[in-house]
Amino acid sequence: MPSGVRCRVEECVHNRNGACRASAIEVRSSGDEKVATSDGTCCETFEMRK
Ligand code: SF4
Repeated sequence: MPSGVRCRVEECVHNRNGACRASAIEVRSSGDEKVATSDGTCCETFEMRK
């Protein structure tokens, strides 16, 4: 897994107590605009917890 990845997306199946437990993650820009802040980024590895 990526070391030290903290994540606040509690709805993700990979999230355990604020830490990402995925073996790897992919992050992309969330839109077509040039990314200027973290709001413009998006975790592609997110999976909804059921
Ligand atoms: S996969 Fe992405 S959204 Fe899910 S816990 Fe890891 S960093 Fe957060």
